[in-house]
Amino acid sequence: MKKTIRDVDLKNKVVLMRVDFNVPMKDGKITDVNRIVQALPTIKYALEQDAKVVLLSHLGRIKEESDKAQNTLAPVAKKLEELLGKSVKFVPETRGKAVEEAVKNMKSGEVVMLENTRFEDLDGKKESKNDPELGKYWASLGDVFVNDAFGTAHRAHASNVGIASNLDTAVAGFLMEKEIKFIGDAVDNPVRPFVAILGGAKVSDKISVIESLINKADKILICGAMAYTFYKALGYEVGESKCELDFVEFAKGLLDKANGRIVLPVDTVVTKEFAEDAESEVVPSDKIPADKMGLDIGPKTLELFANELKGAKTVVWNGPAGVFEFEKFAKGTNGICTILAGLKDAITIIGGGDSAAAAIKLGFEEKFTHISTGGGASLEYLEGKELPGIECLEDEECHCGHCHHDHK
Ligand code: ADP
Ligand code: MG
Repeated sequence: MKKTIRDVDLKNKVVLMRVDFNVPMKDGKITDVNRIVQALPTIKYALEQDAKVVLLSHLGRIKEESDKAQNTLAPVAKKLEELLGKSVKFVPETRGKAVEEAVKNMKSGEVVMLENTRFEDLDGKKESKNDPELGKYWASLGDVFVNDAFGTAHRAHASNVGIASNLDTAVAGFLMEKEIKFIGDAVDNPVRPFVAILGGAKVSDKISVIESLINKADKILICGAMAYTFYKALGYEVGESKCELDFVEFAKGLLDKANGRIVLPVDTVVTKEFAEDAESEVVPSDKIPADKMGLDIGPKTLELFANELKGAKTVVWNGPAGVFEFEKFAKGTNGICTILAGLKDAITIIGGGDSAAAAIKLGFEEKFTHISTGGGASLEYLEGKELPGIECLEDEECHCGHCHHDHK
């Protein structure tokens, strides 16, 4: 385990806190405040400990000057102020005199937020390429580094790895701690039976996750468009369904290797067109008409999955069961949510951007043990990779003998 913000003395210290405020925006308005809400416990804790909190985050991608206007963190600072019930001083710069003065003038218990760290990408991708001088500069502003941005932990950027490598004290925030605990434990030290549910758009996106989980999970339930590549491997007709011909051999190999631990859907909802109101029918998996495409799993599959999940103690789910964006084809995804919500004493974890969005959209936000805030980061963590944004933090001294892969 990594050291956390609890392990350091914060009194009167300038705490540089990397948060993930990469919130979805539309027309200058924040459409989902979840990421801000998730960062509140760490910020509040630091303030209670009389720290001076300096927040850094990225928002969107900055490729040209004109990207700046719609990716300023100014509205996020406003929203944070509201949610925190405390004034947040926003500095519309990422470096320079205004930044240094603002930090210098801080009193304990105050919050300053800098402009989007990726504004530094305009001039030679300094943030995204972890420019050594930039990390050093940001580090020079503070005493302690706290990383609570799990969503960017799979990237080595100046605002995480760069700062951490220039400060003696670099620890995890509470959100980061939660992500490490739930996803890390599920992958490295799961309470069994451990069942993984994998769906979503493509086998090719998830190769490493499947390969990693196939050695760890007791069962892997496949759904989403991914299933059709497996059907093809079994020689079934898949019609117009999304299917990756280049990965049929890979799917075959997995089925051989899995020894029955891979469970495929037994029925599927098919239609002639990819549309919200398309006429649909349920067919057995090996009876997909040549002119139709599968957009969801069917009711028999949900029964089968419910059975496989009975008694599971750890469940990790990545990838929606169907095209949940269309209400008509959200039944499979909804059904899986319902099954998982009903499991007693199971640790249920969602990793994956769209799966998390689906579960929240369908109203199951409170029903899971943990919904990861990181899309790409949770996927890489599930693959068993070491994430640079976690690696750069200090290790706890530990003698427990069963620590995660982040333990040196
Ligand atoms: P996550 O972000 O959770 O890792 P993915 O990005 O892999 O998930 O997949 C999400 C996408 O997969 C969704 O947009 C969904 O519409 C799509 N999808 C799921 N099932 C199907 C299907 N049968 N046909 C086409 N697209 C599908
Ligand atoms: Mg996705």
